[in-house]
Amino acid sequence: MPDTLQTQYGLAQLDQTRHYDALVVGGGVVGLWLAKILAEEGLDVVLADKGACGSGGSGGLMGALLPHMPSGWNDKKQFQFESLAAMPALIGKLESQAGLNTGYRRCGRVSPIRKPGFLRQTESHAKKHDRVWNTGQTNQGQNFIYEHISMRGFQEWVEPSYAPLGLAHETLSGRVNPRDYMEALRASVAEVADIVEGFDFSFFDEGTGQAHSKDGKYSILAGKLVLSAGYQSFELLKPFVGEVIGQGVKGQAALFELEGFDNYPVTYDDGIYIVPHENGLCAIGSTSEKIWDNAHSTDYGLEKVIRRAKQLCPALRDARLVDSWAGVRPRCDAKDPLVGKLPGKPVYVATGGFKITLGTGHYMARALCDIILERPQVVPLPSCYTMAYHLEKMEERGQKDSDEDSDNE
Ligand SMILES: Cc1cc2nc3c(=O)[nH]c(=O)nc-3n(C[C@H](O)[C@H](O)[C@H](O)COP(=O)(O)OP(=O)(O)OC[C@H]3O[C@@H](n4cnc5c(N)ncnc54)[C@H](O)[C@@H]3O)c2cc1C
Repeated sequence: MPDTLQTQYGLAQLDQTRHYDALVVGGGVVGLWLAKILAEEGLDVVLADKGACGSGGSGGLMGALLPHMPSGWNDKKQFQFESLAAMPALIGKLESQAGLNTGYRRCGRVSPIRKPGFLRQTESHAKKHDRVWNTGQTNQGQNFIYEHISMRGFQEWVEPSYAPLGLAHETLSGRVNPRDYMEALRASVAEVADIVEGFDFSFFDEGTGQAHSKDGKYSILAGKLVLSAGYQSFELLKPFVGEVIGQGVKGQAALFELEGFDNYPVTYDDGIYIVPHENGLCAIGSTSEKIWDNAHSTDYGLEKVIRRAKQLCPALRDARLVDSWAGVRPRCDAKDPLVGKLPGKPVYVATGGFKITLGTGHYMARALCDIILERPQVVPLPSCYTMAYHLEKMEERGQKDSDEDSDNE
């Protein structure tokens, strides 16, 4: 993000005597949506980020918006489906509010079919998808396709020898330019809430309602605290739940100049994503590193991804590298995102979206807004996203550890 953004909402603007209804900590896709939705509901909201909004995992290069497969359907898949189906209308509104383009497009996805097993699975998804993607109101009047297609027209996009049995193709997937998306969201939040960049949140004094910065120099007064600080939420949550219940998984990605493929579908194959963007750009990624020292460095891991992406996509072979990036995704120990209220405290959390949050952050925020306003959820959270589920999983892990300790005595 441009440096100028950092100074636009600096600490100098912070009014430390004002009492806000809610402080949202973290200006990634989740925190920005949450601040926007809460403020539009009439709450007096301040969003604080320790750096610039969009400088975390949400501000990268990839921006693939990929659905779960249309089989083994459950409330988690339904939640993600509905959030993706809602995107065209939602992004259209955001773009006109902010006066900015996000690079969103429902471009679909292809995956090469090498083996008969994957061909059978593709045919099965093609038969089943209508039942879960195109029924009721949840597709918002859109019709999505899952089908088996030939390689015709894709020889430059997918290496033909990788797809002897053709391609799996669906039309629900999309793409968005993550940085442009964050910029539009931030501009839209600034219309309805206060933004303070450079506020490194440290702890919340429930008695006084004061949230303190790490350097001890600043505080923000708020009735409710929401932690949406990406992977750093897990450390911030520790004083409330007693342990660190998730981790950051680093990822690296690259951006290439690639004219003529802007409207092609995302390609996914064996952990490699190729995501065409507007203006002759194409992102590829990404690594998944549980152990890392430097959140922002790129290394041989990315080189390997680039090599594999070029093997998969002939058009990329002579493309020029224009940017590379690394960031960290939040992943809960219980795997699924965590959205909810800490029992008995004016403290809320929304994090752990891991790899798919650009496509679900707005629905995580919508659900948490309903929880904060103590009203029924318009789109109910999947049971595995809830605070009760995560606290139960934490207890189970604790129980297992103590059983193992006594076995070893
Ligand atoms: C390599 C890579 C590729 C990705 N590709 C995709 C993709 O293709 N599709 C997709 O949907 N998603 C993708 N993601 C994003 C992923 O979904 C992330 O999980 C998501 O962006 C997390 O959003 P968030 O709002 O929870 O956190 P973040 O975006 O990380 O935002 C957290 C914010 O909190 C701030 N913060 C942290 N600690 C504090 C503190 N103490 N005080 C104040 N502020 C604080 C940070 O500065 C940051 O701005 C990718 C991520 C990576 C790393």
